[in-house]
Amino acid sequence: MLLPEIDDYPARYQFRFCPLCATSLERRVGHGRMRLVCPKDNWTFFPNPNIAATVVVEYQGGIVLLRRAIPPDKGIWHLPIGHLEFGESPEQAALREASEETGLVIEDPFFLDFEHSPSYGDPAMFYIVFCYRARATGGALRVDHENSDIRVAPPEELPELKWTAQRRALAAWQVWHATYN
Ligand SMILES: [Zn+2]
Repeated sequence: MLLPEIDDYPARYQFRFCPLCATSLERRVGHGRMRLVCPKDNWTFFPNPNIAATVVVEYQGGIVLLRRAIPPDKGIWHLPIGHLEFGESPEQAALREASEETGLVIEDPFFLDFEHSPSYGDPAMFYIVFCYRARATGGALRVDHENSDIRVAPPEELPELKWTAQRRALAAWQVWHATYN
């Protein structure tokens, strides 16, 4: 497979200066590929995908859906999702994001699957999304600042979700649900 070269990196990865010493970065072959390297202290940029967690939240016999209030994809219905904080495990991030985005108390996480795909906001960026199932055991539904609406949809009436990671999560949840319930 052909991997992205430096010129193909997303805009946010087009670094020009060393983050440690502010020297102009140079292009050098290192570890088998052309990389951005600091000529002064050898700091080398190894670009990574963004890492996120999404959750199929079971609540009152249905699945919790949020309506997105910010770009990209403003207006779509989606599952709770968010980036991992540095040092946070995927499972911790899944529980935290689901709780922050829904107002509910979230428990019993179960890892379903993961997705690796380009970002909808920037196709030059890549995402790894960990997909979980969890159960809401308390709290009260409310919207956060990134969403305009929230609802609980019966499993047989779920809309087609736009993001591939969330379609993967729901498909895996349906298999899991049929197996363990
Ligand atoms: Zn440097």
